[in-house]
Amino acid sequence: MRWESFAAWGATAAARNIPLWQVVLEYEMHQKKRSAQEIWDRLAQVYAVMRDAVESGLREPRQTPSGLVRDTGKKLAWTTRHVISPEFSLLIAYATAAKETNACMGRVVAAPTAGASGILPGIYTFLEKHHGVPRSTIYEAMLIGAGVALIIEQKASIAGAVGGCQAETGTAAAMGAAGIVHSLGGDATQVFEAVALTLMNMLGLICDPVAGLVELPCVKRNGSAAVIAAAAAQMALAGDTAIIPVDEIVVAMGEVGAAMDSRFKETALGGLAATPTAQAIARRIWTDPSAIRREDLPE
Ligand code: SF4
Repeated sequence: MRWESFAAWGATAAARNIPLWQVVLEYEMHQKKRSAQEIWDRLAQVYAVMRDAVESGLREPRQTPSGLVRDTGKKLAWTTRHVISPEFSLLIAYATAAKETNACMGRVVAAPTAGASGILPGIYTFLEKHHGVPRSTIYEAMLIGAGVALIIEQKASIAGAVGGCQAETGTAAAMGAAGIVHSLGGDATQVFEAVALTLMNMLGLICDPVAGLVELPCVKRNGSAAVIAAAAAQMALAGDTAIIPVDEIVVAMGEVGAAMDSRFKETALGGLAATPTAQAIARRIWTDPSAIRREDLPE
């Protein structure tokens, strides 16, 4: 199939009476010239890297030379003060810990980008640990997430330098929301509503990394994007809808990204990066080269 819209994806699955993930699996087999077993094996490898990014992020120090990353994941995992529940804190902990692993040059899966690499590991780890979702279902959720990203990549963007942070953390959150709904028994319509609700609530988010480092606000945004994904999935599972069709929201996302000023596209010239405090931090970092590693530069 030509991977051009959520409507086409849903129609293909419905016409053949197969789940959404199977459409993606067949697409991947065709594109990569691999067997189904090879795709499943690869998904297992990818998920192992995601889980390790979370677990090592919670276990090992996660602080960068710039001082902009300072063990956010561990603070969330160890806190005894919970706004909603311990599980709510842990969802944020898992997502931020994995993103901090990336900021500290650890091994991550750039799904869809390194800047947003904590969101899916956080969500999948949460589903497995706190809902008992089997790994086979997590792998199906990963395929659905890939299908979501494929469409957004064509119709809008998945890169902060092109479409702002809505393109990076927004896309990852949409992929994750779809996976949550699938894993908890939602149908295809609810999966797409979760994507629509997520993107609707992250539309317009700018990319404004302090000092040009993919650290602040990136780590915090990975945590909050996981929460928005969970909220969108909750709404979809409850039967709520975005009213605006998901394909129209993706077009709007592309339009917003195209209209976004270049100051808000990873240039570190606007938004948070332009605040007096961020400017002072940037001066300190860039006038003391020993405080920064080459690998810390933006993607
Ligand atoms: S602020 Fe920019 S660099 Fe950071 S996660 Fe968002 S898109 Fe990526």
